[in-house]
Amino acid sequence: MSIVVLKLPDVKRKTKERPSKCLYCEGETFQRWGEVNKPVKDVRVRNVKVYRYRCCRCKRTFRQYPAGNTRADQTERLRLFAVLLWTLGLSYRAGSLILSGLKVMVSFMTIWRDVQAEAQQIKKHNQWKAVRILGLDGAYVLGWGEKQPVLVAVDLGTGEPLTLGYVNEYDPQAVQRWLASLVQRHGITVIVTDDLSSYKVVAEKLQLGHQVCQFHVRRWVGKTLKDLQETIPKPWLWVLDDIRQVLDVLPPDGSKTLYALWKQLPGRRSLPNQARSALEQLRDLLLRLCEHWQTYCAFQSEPQVPWTNNATERAIGRMKMRARTVRGYKSWQGMAAGLMLAGSYAR
Ligand SMILES: [Zn+2]
Repeated sequence: MSIVVLKLPDVKRKTKERPSKCLYCEGETFQRWGEVNKPVKDVRVRNVKVYRYRCCRCKRTFRQYPAGNTRADQTERLRLFAVLLWTLGLSYRAGSLILSGLKVMVSFMTIWRDVQAEAQQIKKHNQWKAVRILGLDGAYVLGWGEKQPVLVAVDLGTGEPLTLGYVNEYDPQAVQRWLASLVQRHGITVIVTDDLSSYKVVAEKLQLGHQVCQFHVRRWVGKTLKDLQETIPKPWLWVLDDIRQVLDVLPPDGSKTLYALWKQLPGRRSLPNQARSALEQLRDLLLRLCEHWQTYCAFQSEPQVPWTNNATERAIGRMKMRARTVRGYKSWQGMAAGLMLAGSYAR
C-alpha cells in the first residue's frame, strides 16, 4: 500500500514577526498602527489576525499577513485545494459544491479564476527556466470536436511539464521549428523520446544529444523478434538470440556486433515489388538497430540522462486525467494552460 501525502501550504492565524522592510521605501522602523480580525475562507481557520504598521520614514501604512494569507478572502491553502479539485477532474461547480460540504462558500467563478491564475503562474515560472534534459512525447487531446495533436515537453530534471506545443510529432519540420526556440530559451542539450524517426532527424539538425526510451525499443524489437522466431529458417535462429543479448546489455559498441551479424546474412534476393522474406526482414532489423544504436546508449555517457521516457509519460497521464472531462476550451492557449496545470499537480 502506498500513502500519498498531499502538501498544501500552512495557514497561520497570526504572526509575531514584524515586517523587516517597508513595502514602499525600504525603511526599517515601524509603529504598530492597529489590528483587524480578518474573516478568511479556509477549511480549518475562520479568522486571522492582521496587523497594520506605519513606516516611520515615509509614514505610509501597510498590512502584515500571517503565513498562508494574502489580501484575498481565500487562504493560500484553500486556493490550492480548489485548484487541485479541478486538476483531479472535477468541474468548477463540483469543486464549489465539495467546498460547501466543508462549510466553505466559494463560487465556481472564484475557482475558475484560481485555476487561471495558477496556470499563469506556472507559465511565468517556466518561461526562462534552465532545462538541460528534455523529455518529448506526442499525445492527443479532445478539443473543438476532434482529436488535437499535442507535443508535451517535460523537464526531466524535475519531472514537471515545461510547455506544450500544438504540433504533430510525425511532422519533423514542425517539431524542429518548435523545438529550436525551446533549445535556445532553456539551454536544452539532450532530448529523450521514443524512436519515431522525426525525433532522430530533429536531434541531428539541432545538434542535440538523443536518448531513445529503452522501454519502447524493447517492446517493438521484442515483438519483431518473436514474429521472426516463427518465420526464419532454423539455422539462423541463433542470430535472434545474439540480438536479444546485445539489447539486454546495451554495450556502447553494440552497433559493431550488429553490423557483423548483418554482414553474415545473405544479401537481398527479392525484387522491389515483392514481399520481403523473413531473412530480409531480419537484415532490415539489424540495419535499423545499427543506425540508431548511439541513441540507445546516450545515457551511459551522461549520468543524468534517464534510459526511459517514463517521467514524460507520467506527466501526460496526469494531463489526460483532466483532459477527459474538459470540454469547450475556447482557444489553444486556454487548453495548453489547463493541461500544463493538470500535468504539474496531482501526482
Ligand atoms: Zn516607508
